[in-house]
Amino acid sequence: MKKQVMVPAEELERQKEYMTLCRQELTARFGEARSPLALVRSFGCQQNVSDGEKLRGMLAEMGCGFTEELGEADIVLYNTCAVRENAEQKVFGIVGQATHRKAVKENLLIGLCGCMTQQAHVAGKVKQSYPGVDFVLGTHALHRFPEILHGVLKSSGEGRRKRAFAVEESDGVIAEGLPVRREGGVRANLPIMYGCNNFCTYCVVPLVRGRERSRRSADILREARELIALGYKEITLLGQNVNSYGKDLEDDLSFPELLEAVNALPGDFWIRFMTSHPRDCTKELIDTIAHCDKVCSHIHLPVQCGSDRVLTAMNRHYTRAQYLDIIDYARKTIPDVNFTSDIIVGFPGETYEEFLETVSLVEEVGYSSLFTFIYSPREGTRAARMEDPVPYEEKNRWFQQLLEVQRDRGMTYYETCVGRTLRVLVEGEGRLKHGILSGSEPADGQCVLMGRTAHNMVVDFFGPRSLIGGFADVTITEAANWALAGRLADGALAD
Ligand code: SAH
Ligand code: SF4
Repeated sequence: MKKQVMVPAEELERQKEYMTLCRQELTARFGEARSPLALVRSFGCQQNVSDGEKLRGMLAEMGCGFTEELGEADIVLYNTCAVRENAEQKVFGIVGQATHRKAVKENLLIGLCGCMTQQAHVAGKVKQSYPGVDFVLGTHALHRFPEILHGVLKSSGEGRRKRAFAVEESDGVIAEGLPVRREGGVRANLPIMYGCNNFCTYCVVPLVRGRERSRRSADILREARELIALGYKEITLLGQNVNSYGKDLEDDLSFPELLEAVNALPGDFWIRFMTSHPRDCTKELIDTIAHCDKVCSHIHLPVQCGSDRVLTAMNRHYTRAQYLDIIDYARKTIPDVNFTSDIIVGFPGETYEEFLETVSLVEEVGYSSLFTFIYSPREGTRAARMEDPVPYEEKNRWFQQLLEVQRDRGMTYYETCVGRTLRVLVEGEGRLKHGILSGSEPADGQCVLMGRTAHNMVVDFFGPRSLIGGFADVTITEAANWALAGRLADGALAD
């Protein structure tokens, strides 16, 4: 691995010292009577959620507690997503609300971080039009959060408010050993790599997250062991394209080898991973998933569209036939495998006939669920410069058509689950959804629980709260309105 990718240990030590200094400054600013409360909100993908957990980890080291309420917060941090325009607009609206809070709470601190801030035009807009924002932290500056926050706190403590904009250009770094404060105690995200080299023509991620860089497997395995020891029952290995894990490392593991190594760790837990790029989804990987008993039988395999011409224009490097071959091989190899996918409707120049190829692919594969998006032009990407003659309203009609097809196709999949007894990981209390489980009440001492199967289906069922955080066998009794309901399998509560 290129050495400069790793943030040096001395630099991380320096940031630790800043955490101590921030603790002092925060006490000076908010008083000793209580811990300052931080609101950290992450938008977008699991990578952002994971970064948010690091920001919380650093804030906890600085003595902060946490809140979800803007009205209670002393520090507000929005960890933004730049993948689509509507995500950006939402953030600007929310930032506006937070800055208004300053009228009643003068010492409120507001920070912006994540993918949006790494774009020069966004950082410029915040600088000019959102004077209430105290600091902006680009994706490559995450580990420098303590230093940046300290600069802001110190300057305002000295009566000369200084805003900070840390948005350096970089191919990206890896900072090991930052404190992490995870949300929930059952499922954990474990980043194995950062950045992306694929440059799909519509996508801003490589521009804001830098080049692909893999963590050393020893660091990943150490963290996985810690998570298992802490009682986590599901680990999701994260990366923009996990299948290319390790390609930038010398003498280290490939992704299938890493899966085997995590699978070999002792303990009763499940392994998931995302996202898998079809271009690099090899037979070796599928064989590995099949023989690793802890790796879940669910593959999120974004196809984006079903037309070869559009796939080429997107720079996806696979054809429809190659994609369907992978699906076919996986179905033959991995018992009970389930697929989900991402789809973009209305890529520049896409015709209705080409869109119908996406529809037919969706019908052919039979995904349990889909994440569907209308194409959104992103500054700096190749697609943003392509001719895009189809009006948004027309694309929206296509989009609705696809949703309808998926509604039927997805339900067919849900119905195949009825009558089966499946192992679920019980994540927490469930919600009584849309009449499912209706007509019945939990027995004394029981409540509605929510569990997830290995193939990533959510199931509501009645059971004691003590099951939360463990595995249980549930017999599926109903499928309706995008939900499954079941009952604890006979003998599941035997001991
Ligand atoms: N690295 C992952 C996910 C990246 S972003 C992958 O390659 O699958 C998540 C999803 O957002 C993408 O799969 C794509 O479907 C969607 N997306 C990305 N850029 C988009 C854009 N400009 N407009 C609409 N959807 C987009
Ligand atoms: Fe974006 Fe493509 Fe990279 Fe996914 S693989 S992050 S869609 S460039």
